Amino acid sequence: MSETLPAPTALFAKVRNERAFPTLSTDHLARIVSHGRRRRVEAGEVLVEAGSANVPCFVVVSGILDVVQRDGSTEHLVISQGAGQFTGEATMISGRRALFQIRARQAGEVVELERAEVSALVQVEAEIGAILMRAFILRRLELVTSGVGDAVLIGSQHSAATLRAREFLNRNGHPYTYVDVERESDTEALLRRFHVGVADVPVLICRSDRVLKNPTNQDIADCLGFNDAIDRSHVRDLVVIGAGPAGLAAAVYGASEGLDVLVLETAAPGGQAGSSSRIENYLGFPTGISGQELAARAYTQAQRFGAEVLIAGSATALLCERKPYAIRTDSGSVVSARTIVIASGAQYRKPALHDLARFEGAGVYYGATPMEAQLCAGSEVVIVGGGNSAGQAAVFLAQNCTHVHMLVRASGLADSMSRYLIRRIEENPTISLHTRTELVTLNGDDRLRTLTWRHNESGAEEARDIGHVFLMTGAVPNTSWLDGCIALDAKQFVKTGPDLSKDELASAHWPLTRDPHLLETTLPGVFAVGDVRSGSVKRVASAVGEGSVAISFVHRTLHE
Ligand SMILES: Cc1cc2nc3c(=O)[nH]c(=O)nc-3n(C[C@H](O)[C@H](O)[C@H](O)COP(=O)(O)OP(=O)(O)OC[C@H]3O[C@@H](n4cnc5c(N)ncnc54)[C@H](O)[C@@H]3O)c2cc1C
Repeated sequence: MSETLPAPTALFAKVRNERAFPTLSTDHLARIVSHGRRRRVEAGEVLVEAGSANVPCFVVVSGILDVVQRDGSTEHLVISQGAGQFTGEATMISGRRALFQIRARQAGEVVELERAEVSALVQVEAEIGAILMRAFILRRLELVTSGVGDAVLIGSQHSAATLRAREFLNRNGHPYTYVDVERESDTEALLRRFHVGVADVPVLICRSDRVLKNPTNQDIADCLGFNDAIDRSHVRDLVVIGAGPAGLAAAVYGASEGLDVLVLETAAPGGQAGSSSRIENYLGFPTGISGQELAARAYTQAQRFGAEVLIAGSATALLCERKPYAIRTDSGSVVSARTIVIASGAQYRKPALHDLARFEGAGVYYGATPMEAQLCAGSEVVIVGGGNSAGQAAVFLAQNCTHVHMLVRASGLADSMSRYLIRRIEENPTISLHTRTELVTLNGDDRLRTLTWRHNESGAEEARDIGHVFLMTGAVPNTSWLDGCIALDAKQFVKTGPDLSKDELASAHWPLTRDPHLLETTLPGVFAVGDVRSGSVKRVASAVGEGSVAISFVHRTLHE
């Protein structure tokens, strides 16, 4: 009988989910074999080392493969895969580095498929493709939910930098273990082991060897290898700036129609929509969908079609004097593009409040996702703003907070919020609406402790011991990086297509005999879509619509 090595201690009590860990039929196995190579494996043989890039997928014909998390000399079994099962998770789609080691517990036989062969298989074999893709996505979700991955973040619930780092990891769907210095008793020992102190938090430990003190988003992306597989040197058919709904739609349509697409994203896929607790008016989701889930699906879809997304890679300048166009990124690298879709959206307007920056992430928030909801559970909160995003946040936070105060300058919500949200707010006894009221002061120490609001008609001020404020007061376009290259309107949104006057085209030296296409800017082959575009409807559906429509014009200009 062949040797079977002992399994490491299991991380999960029992393995669940037949959809995440399915067993393929013999017919499926036979069809897969023609896409890869059959090979023997020996007991103890390491097939994938944690941290290696572009790893293959192994379909087990016989024997057992263990997926193992290693932390120094300690090992944990993440999962075992037997005959008919297969290895791999979201990194099979993204090409990022492997999170775990894979090794054979027993001698046997596998079919080895390179990443490109898995992509080809998914395109050709729809039924098998659906089983693999679903399993890869569900496995990643399971890892994220259980905090099992290749990174440990040690932070403090009172630190803005910790909140930012957690948000970055969460919104990029990267699994990590979070250790809070205030809540976990053995943190100091952990910090000592890596020669860092409490004052250094947040601290990120990548693959149990590299230690980063208070890392930037770019540092985190580099340490975890988010962008390792991306080639920045060749000229792309299309570079999309921004991975919000508009940019991801452009990436999905562009890549699925055969274009070589690169997306640059400052932070994480999803844009503003990613900070929404529940989007209820997007077609096809009758019970609503969280912004993060929508973003994660779109991100995977774009990558599945071959689009590449450079994370923590901001466009800092458009080099519009040259052809092909080029975009400079904050890391100093320059990417070249035959066409460009600007989908850089908008960001929250910041009210002129003294000490606002001091409390950002330490009591002042700009999005209401489950993470912020957790931070203010059981407390009173204030929401400033009367738009749909403020309404959604109020209804969402009212589930866990003791009371939600909505402050609006107007006399009501009717002009700024959808009727269905207004009704929910009116019917919810946990939410109070304060009209003609504005926030005037924020006070605290290392975090927000108290605040004051003023009723603008009476001038009366009210001080409250409230330490959580959500600012949702409209948005300004992310266009400063365009710096004179294309025509903007008075509020700095990008002007496109029929909105461009003859004078604007003349002063921009529009070089063609045809007029600009719909969504085309004053630069031929450069388009603007979604919230960043002058006159656009600020909604997820319209952003997605514009992102997809722009691709038909991209094709036309590529053939010009
Ligand atoms: C809390 C909230 C709730 C909402 N709820 C709803 C709703 O229920 N229904 C609805 O229809 N709409 C809703 N909206 C509006 C909707 O989210 C936006 O209309 C939509 O996200 C716009 O998509 P976009 O892709 O054009 O821009 P954005 O979502 O703003 O995305 C732009 C992306 O570009 C990136 N970026 C910016 N500058 C650069 C740069 N220089 N380089 C690289 N990347 C860059 C940003 O990081 C961002 O990821 C909500 C908005 C918010 C804030």
